[in-house]
Parts: sequence; C-alpha cells; structure tokens
Amino acid sequence: MSDHEAFRAETRTWLEENCPKSLLGKGGGGIVGTWGGRKWKPDNEDERLWLDRAAAKGFTAPTWPTEYGGGGLSKEEAKILAQEMRAISAPPPLLGFGLTMIGPTLLQYGTEEQKLEHLTKITRGEIRWCQGYSEPGAGSDLAGLQMRAEDKGDHYIVNGTKVWTSYADEADWIFALVRTDPKAKKQEGITFLLIDMETPGVSVSPILLISGTSPFCETHFQDVKALKSNVIFKENAGWTVAKALLGHERSMVAEAFGSSGELRTSLADRARAYLPGAEPDRPLPDAVLRQDIARMEMDTRAFGLTMQRARDAAKAGQQPGAESSIFKVVGTELNQRRQELLLHIAGPQALGWEGEGFAEDELQGTRNWLRSRGNTIEGGTSEVQRNIIAKRVLGLPD
Ligand SMILES: Cc1cc2nc3c(=O)[nH]c(=O)nc-3n(C[C@H](O)[C@H](O)[C@H](O)COP(=O)(O)OP(=O)(O)OC[C@H]3O[C@@H](n4cnc5c(N)ncnc54)[C@H](O)[C@@H]3O)c2cc1C
Repeated sequence: MSDHEAFRAETRTWLEENCPKSLLGKGGGGIVGTWGGRKWKPDNEDERLWLDRAAAKGFTAPTWPTEYGGGGLSKEEAKILAQEMRAISAPPPLLGFGLTMIGPTLLQYGTEEQKLEHLTKITRGEIRWCQGYSEPGAGSDLAGLQMRAEDKGDHYIVNGTKVWTSYADEADWIFALVRTDPKAKKQEGITFLLIDMETPGVSVSPILLISGTSPFCETHFQDVKALKSNVIFKENAGWTVAKALLGHERSMVAEAFGSSGELRTSLADRARAYLPGAEPDRPLPDAVLRQDIARMEMDTRAFGLTMQRARDAAKAGQQPGAESSIFKVVGTELNQRRQELLLHIAGPQALGWEGEGFAEDELQGTRNWLRSRGNTIEGGTSEVQRNIIAKRVLGLPD
C-alpha cells in the first residue's frame, strides 16, 4: 500500500469514528456551516463536537504547520482528506475569514509572536474575524481609504468608518486597513492593523439587505486605542499585505461559490422533483433544460478541475497571483448561473419569501439566488478583476 493509500484508509476510519452521525449528509459547500467565535451558539451540540475533534486532529487547517494548530499535511494529503469528507458529505468542521484570509496572511507576514497568538485560536474556532477594508468612499479604489490611525508611541488612536463589514456584529477581531501617513502617496501611507472588536470606541450597525438577512455592518471607530504590536508586517507597508490577503480572498470566494469540482446538488435530481412526467434514473423529459443542465454541470466540473490543476501546480509556499482574479470572475459568474438555473427549475416555487406553500429549501433557494448577486462584487468587482487580468495576466496597456 502506498503512503497515500495508507493515509486515505486511516483518514476514512478517523472520519467514520469522529464525524457525528447527525451531521453526515450536511456537507453543502459555500458559506453555510460553523464559523465559531466567542459569540457562537451551535444549533446542535454535535457541531461543537465535530469542530473540537477536527481541531484537535489539525483538520480545520490541514496544511498549516502543527505548531500553530494545523495538521501539517501535504497538499496531496489535504486533497485526500477533502475527498474523503465529500464522500460521506461531512460538513467542513469550521469556516471563516480566519482560516481563509487572515490565517494564510499571518503565515506569510506575521511575526512569530503574532502567529502563536492568533493561529491556534483560529484553528480551534475560538475567535471569529471580520474584514475592515471598504469605506463609504473607498471600495474598488481601496487605496483611497481615510480611516486614520494617529501615532501615539506604542499605540495608535484610530478614527473612521468601515462599511460592508460582513458579520462585524458576530466577529471578535477585525483586520483593518488604516491610514498612518496622510502625506504619503495613497498606497504608501497605509498600515494593516488587527483590532479587538471589544476595544472601547468600536461599534457596529447592521445593514438590512434585499435578501431579508443582515450580514453586513457599518463599523465605527471612535478614538480606539490599537497597540502597535498588532501591526502586520510594517507601518506604512500595509498595501503589500492587503494585496496578498485579497489574493487569498478571491481564491476563497471562487472556491466557496464556484464549487471545487464537486457538484453540490444534482441539478437533474432537482429538476425531476418539479418536471411533470420526470422519472428517477430516466432522462429529463425537457430537451432544452437537459442541455442547460449538461452545460452547467460541464462548466462547473471544468472549473473545479482547473482550480485543482492550479492548486496542484502551485509549489509549496507559492502564493496566489493575479490568476486568482480569473478564478474569481469565472467562479462567481458560474454560481450566479447556477442559482438562475435552480430558480428556473423550481418555477413559481422559487418565488417564495415566507409562509405556507413553500418548502424550507425553496425559501433558502430564493435567498441563495439573491445572495449570489453580491458574488461578483465582494472581494473586488468583476469589472475591476477584468482590469487586473488585462494588465497583469495578459500584459495589455492601460
Ligand atoms: C457580499 C459582500 C460582502 C462584502 N464583505 C466585505 C467585508 O467583509 N469587508 C469589506 O471591507 N468589504 C466587503 N465588501 C465590500 C466590497 O469589497 C466592495 O463592495 C467592492 O470592493 C466594490 O466597492 P464599492 O461597493 O465601493 O463599489 P465602487 O467601487 O463604487 O464601484 C461601483 C461600480 O463601478 C465599477 N468600477 C469602479 N472602478 C472601476 C474601474 N476602474 N474600472 C471599471 N469599473 C469600475 C465597479 O465595478 C462597480 O460596478 C463586501 C461586498 C459584498 C457584495
């Protein structure tokens, strides 16, 4: 038996013994699942059990070094773990910006003290993070941000407002971009700073959205004291860190929404539930829909395999480059197409908002469709990604 086969067998046994039975079949991909944090109240104690067991094994961050709570696995082993989890449809034990954004950035730019302080808490789901990049006047033109951090020796006093801060009301810490040198060229006066959300002067106001949920907040900072030991990399060099994190964010958004090669719900099965005359294991009695589904599943599979190829090709330690913009555009547009198709399949049953006459998954489908509209905006809009691809990937002139 090869090492990889042995690892697969061992992992399969571990999963069978440790993933609570009540969670099997709940693996859905996307952003639904356990995000942890101090304010987290699990719907079901098995979610906590699954998180604790997976964290103890290093399986919440399989490729991170073991000294920071990771699993120390190679990329190939991490891929096997993901495959085995998908095979039993186990939900990811933990999701969140700690694992996908600030963690990888700390591994790259953090000091040893910062890594030791934050990474294990991330892998155990103890601390939930939010992202303080956008401001009312700085979205696509992020370098135009105004939130001020005034130098007071060993700390800063921070004043300003962030907007579209996803889950700020549930987060414990924020990674924020602040302006530390207002006189420097705009990219050069920015610092990447970590701030505890419980610091006096931090407040959040949720923003209600069309989908009926309120995942965003405005985050206000009034005379907030932030220690300089929480600067990542160097003062006024935050733009470099910000760009690296955006690379991780774009890959994460593409992966979460574009599917990593594994079809989450079979569109054909879904269509069978709604099409008159459809029978199990028989071709769908609607030729146009059949073609639409085949095209969607082929594109999704091709995208998943391309992502996998890019991951496999990336040598250990190599960070995502401008190619992550391609994945971001394609993955998010694929999810929007998928949600449109699901809406089309369900017909009038996809128009429910609340009340009787609609199944829970139909109501969720309506919300998923509305949520998908934001996919091509969050993490940098598709227009801006296309500019990056034109300049940095294709080498086209301005
Ligand atoms: C679901 C979701 C979650 C988010 N979560 C967070 C978060 O947690 N933290 C955070 O900091 N931010 C978050 N954001 C904010 C997001 O990063 C910004 O919305 C995004 O960067 C765009 O900025 P803006 O909204 O200010 O739009 P603008 O920058 O004002 O853009 C408006 C329009 O103009 C276009 N445009 C702008 N400049 C150019 C150009 N040079 N060339 C061509 N077209 C251009 C844009 O593509 C867009 O269509 C989130 C957004 C969404 C939708």
